[in-house]
Amino acid sequence: MATTDNSFNGMTEHCEECDLETLHEVSVQIRTESLKKENAQFSREPYRVSECQRCGNRSSQRMNNA
Ligand SMILES: [Zn+2]
Repeated sequence: MATTDNSFNGMTEHCEECDLETLHEVSVQIRTESLKKENAQFSREPYRVSECQRCGNRSSQRMNNA
């Protein structure tokens, strides 16, 4: 089961907490947004979540920037 290909989704990005370029683990989450009562439809938005491997700070950003 030892694979070397892409098992870790690591990316070097700027971390606001560290104020450094650090390794981040990047994943995609689908979040359901249902904040508005009158809007019966649930909108499911993909978010890109990156977690700093140095301090653990997480930041997420909506992928559908219309
Ligand atoms: Zn950090």
